Amino acid sequence: EIMGKPIDLPKVDNLVGPPENAEKYERANGTLMILTRNRDAGAVVYTVKQIEEHFNKKFHYPYVFLNEEKFTERFKSRIKNYVSGECYFEQVAPEDWVQPEFIDKNKQNVGMLKLARENVAYARKLSYHNMCRYYSRGFYNHPRMKQFRYYWRFEPGTDYFCDIDYDVFKFMQDSDKTYGFTISIYDIRQSLRNIWPDTLEFVEKHPEYVNPNGAMSWLTNSLQKPENAEETDGYSTCHFWSNFEIADMNFFRSKPYSEWVEYLDKTGGFYYERWGDAPVHTIGLSLFADRKRIHWFRDIGYKHVPYTNCPNSEKCSRCTPGKFTYMNLWSENCLTNWWNLEMDDEQKSLY
Ligand code: GDP
Ligand code: MN
Repeated sequence: EIMGKPIDLPKVDNLVGPPENAEKYERANGTLMILTRNRDAGAVVYTVKQIEEHFNKKFHYPYVFLNEEKFTERFKSRIKNYVSGECYFEQVAPEDWVQPEFIDKNKQNVGMLKLARENVAYARKLSYHNMCRYYSRGFYNHPRMKQFRYYWRFEPGTDYFCDIDYDVFKFMQDSDKTYGFTISIYDIRQSLRNIWPDTLEFVEKHPEYVNPNGAMSWLTNSLQKPENAEETDGYSTCHFWSNFEIADMNFFRSKPYSEWVEYLDKTGGFYYERWGDAPVHTIGLSLFADRKRIHWFRDIGYKHVPYTNCPNSEKCSRCTPGKFTYMNLWSENCLTNWWNLEMDDEQKSLY
């Protein structure tokens, strides 16, 4: 219902518009970032073109490309044809990528097989587990990423539908935002059985890390999917869909998040189960950040199959306003919970 309402720019008075001279523009300390493989160059170009067209040709933010393998010269030269900002092509160190020594391979195999039988996507794909773990606890400490504070994560093959006529990184900084998302959905509960009990154990040891203004209701409510609460021992499985996110890495680098995620890592759950980085980011943010610092980028038209955020705005094209999915998956949308449970009037008045 809210999606049908027309929207233009967020209603704050300090938005920074496109500079007249982009060459001389003083950018925020932000970068576009993607983890990708050489063979996905075509899909990366597809998305980079849209980000450039709608946003970056006006601001010239740099890009960081991450890969556990070396990027080929072919990949690099192809990308460089389409970007207006500086490009860094970086390799991920093996010790940050492959599963750690303490993982019990037998337990891993048993766990993966069980999840595969339950039709959990990518259950037996080891590289996928590595990826989720890297996006949960690795990327913000990559030496190249360390030079930045904010990142905008994007994925190959995703769509951006709307002109973004303000500097989103400066918006994050000037309005004191920690995290921005476009889409939020429920997760496959079988992939997350122990993450909540493990988290509660950590929180018991460190109650001082929990933010009194966190987003606890959204984490634990089961308004639409009561079965989730049972399977995951109380976690709703609602999560910000992390394939698009704009966020402040100081949060991930802070003690509460980094100690908690190390605690999770030591349980082996990234390999014995199939925890996505989206629920990891979400639980961390909802426990340790102020919910006011979490921003729904309602105005950023975005699609990663099969879900879309399509605002009703003249700045957008190629999508249908308010249409969340073309498949029979409307009940997967968790945004109503976020809107009803965690947004106060001040935040709602942004739109
Ligand atoms: P899905 O969206 O959950 O289906 O997962 P994707 O296949 O889109 O992977 C998520 C992100 O991680 C994308 O940006 C991929 O390019 C990247 N990714 C996934 N697996 C690997 C991998 O093994 N190596 C590299 N370099 N990138 C990966
Ligand atoms: Mn994807």
